[in-house]
Amino acid sequence: MFNSPMTPNNADMDQTDSRPDLCHKCGKCCKSATTFHPYRKLQEMAEAGEEEAIAFLSVFKPFASIEEARKAVPEQVEQVLKVVAERNDMSVEDVTFYYCPYVTEDGICSIYERRPRCCRDAPYNGWAAMPPGCGYEGWQFRQREAHKSTIRKLKEVQFQMENLSDDGIHVPSRKMTLEQLRASVSEAMEPWLKFGSSQW
Ligand code: SF4
Ligand code: SF4
Repeated sequence: MFNSPMTPNNADMDQTDSRPDLCHKCGKCCKSATTFHPYRKLQEMAEAGEEEAIAFLSVFKPFASIEEARKAVPEQVEQVLKVVAERNDMSVEDVTFYYCPYVTEDGICSIYERRPRCCRDAPYNGWAAMPPGCGYEGWQFRQREAHKSTIRKLKEVQFQMENLSDDGIHVPSRKMTLEQLRASVSEAMEPWLKFGSSQW
């Protein structure tokens, strides 16, 4: 999801176990969650037994409309709609905002000890669209920069190997072909393509 725990796949997860607790308990992410999947798709996933979808729908309830969500956390609604407008794989019609009935007026989780994994893991990486002012903003920035740095280094290695190859087929050590190297760099970039890794 954008700002909850519906993770697109595990490859998109950062090391949330070692992530510091930077939450200042504003409760905004509990009051304005969104997912990468339309609501109907989430329901199908839950009916098919997908645990993440079941856990998400066990706590989050859909707002009747985007306007209703805008009344709860307007800055988050605007942010998410802006992100969706910039992506070519989603449309506004696919976006549903959710609220959790377990968050108190002052932003505290009333079922903290048994909150689902999606809540424990959020934000699961630097690209989860947490509400503006979230305590994880700095952590997310560093996560994004770390991923970009890794991909850039891999691209540099590929560039150097292609230039140093003596036959245009193998890397200089001849331990792998350039084709294998390119495939391995592409594989590393793949989870982040939707965030622009081909341009990093
Ligand atoms: S938006 Fe960020 S700071 Fe606010 S409750 Fe959620 S995780 Fe905590
Ligand atoms: S279960 Fe708790 S942490 Fe999860 S969305 Fe609801 S209030 Fe927030």
